[in-house]
Amino acid sequence: MKLTIYNSLTRKKEVFSPLHGPHVGMYVCGPTVYGDPHLGHARPAITFDLLFRLLGYAGYKVRYVRNITDVGHLENDADEGEDKIAKKARLEQVEPMELVQSYTRSYHRAMDMLNVLPPNIEPSASGHIIEQIALVETILKNGYAYQSEGSVYFDVGKYNKAHRYGILSNRNIDDMLNTTRVLEGQDEKRNPVDFALWKKAQPEHIMRWPSPWSDGFPGWHCECTAMGKKYLGEHFDIHGGGMDLIFPHHECEIAQAVASQGSEMVRYWMHNNMITVNGQKMGKSLGNFITLDEFFTGGNPLLTQSYTPMTIRFFILQAHYRSTLDFSNEALQASGKGLERLLDARSHLNKLTPSASTSANVNVKGLREKCEEAISDDLNTPTVISHLFDAAKAINTVHDGNGTVSAGDLDELKDVFKVFVEDLLGIRIAVTAPNVNSAAFAKAVDLLLSIRRQAKENKDWTTSDRIRKELESFGFKIKDTKEGVEWSL
Ligand code: ZN
Repeated sequence: MKLTIYNSLTRKKEVFSPLHGPHVGMYVCGPTVYGDPHLGHARPAITFDLLFRLLGYAGYKVRYVRNITDVGHLENDADEGEDKIAKKARLEQVEPMELVQSYTRSYHRAMDMLNVLPPNIEPSASGHIIEQIALVETILKNGYAYQSEGSVYFDVGKYNKAHRYGILSNRNIDDMLNTTRVLEGQDEKRNPVDFALWKKAQPEHIMRWPSPWSDGFPGWHCECTAMGKKYLGEHFDIHGGGMDLIFPHHECEIAQAVASQGSEMVRYWMHNNMITVNGQKMGKSLGNFITLDEFFTGGNPLLTQSYTPMTIRFFILQAHYRSTLDFSNEALQASGKGLERLLDARSHLNKLTPSASTSANVNVKGLREKCEEAISDDLNTPTVISHLFDAAKAINTVHDGNGTVSAGDLDELKDVFKVFVEDLLGIRIAVTAPNVNSAAFAKAVDLLLSIRRQAKENKDWTTSDRIRKELESFGFKIKDTKEGVEWSL
């Protein structure tokens, strides 16, 4: 299978040719775990999940590494401000690692719901301090970094004389020098564009480790270079992430790799585009921030309803990963309907009776090839989905008695749906309806009612009313009695 992918480094589509035979190394920047996962986390996770699935389908043995950033990512994405994890931990009055644990769990939960396969290795930055210190030592030894007040900075100017800083983001270092704002505390740096490899910790900073330079913590960009090399080697195939990471994060990773080992580490750089909300960038400060949990429950004022995880997944896949994707309730509802159409066709598929031949108005021929061609053309999922809609139309024609399908073509249709809808697009098909008499079902209702009781005790009438109303809308009868709450269906 010939796979073409867009390489952000060369800025063109290239035929994928792995460095190490059938073994493919893929590294994707994972989340900085300081808050609940949101729509912005879903897009890179789903994009590279699709690629992971496709590489496996194409016969490659993939080692997929997706990291967890739990230290060193400072607030303004450069080298100033508080560590994002440390700040949230301070606000929530918990240990930073308690916070990391809890948000890593919610990230995993959300990814499971979205049917995102787990990576093969999920290393964390705080678990690889030794490797990061070794990386900084090598860069220092090679003369591309300098010490200043206990911190170590990458010498961008010196690096740029021998190599090109800005190769990925296509930036010109001279322009950057002229436009870079001088930030407070930047006097430690020789040049404002230099970036931190190691930061000396201030006395109040909790997350700190000893190093040859100071008690401190690694710069944000070090982790991916150190962990990519550790698990995938000095040269590996694919490095992915969101477009917002191209600069400074990935640009700095390239510089660190070249400065430490003399050559680029990554063969293909791939980036997914961003999600906007009603045309605006999504951000906490803009008040248009929606967590994945809120999508699944409908619990956000921007949402007119809840959306299933598979609707979110389908919505993301309906756009090409390099296009922007704008969230709106209308767009998600349309995705929900589209997905339903596809799943209805799939369930019809199992009930069709084959005929001796396929009638002319039922088009099955070439379907698999067309889907393969589209998906292997830089993950062109919108085109794959449009072919699948054509297949759904053919299935419905037979289902409605307006055409016939042969046994061979029926098997082909079933297999194409299995491969493209389930295995590659990763749409999880609901298996069986839950047994409404099960003890687990009753326990879940009791749990909801106990949350409602708690809410009433706390005079949180919005929550208590919502639980009652929604349960009633599902057909439950709720009766408050002196002894407690009675419910029936
Ligand atoms: Zn990274």
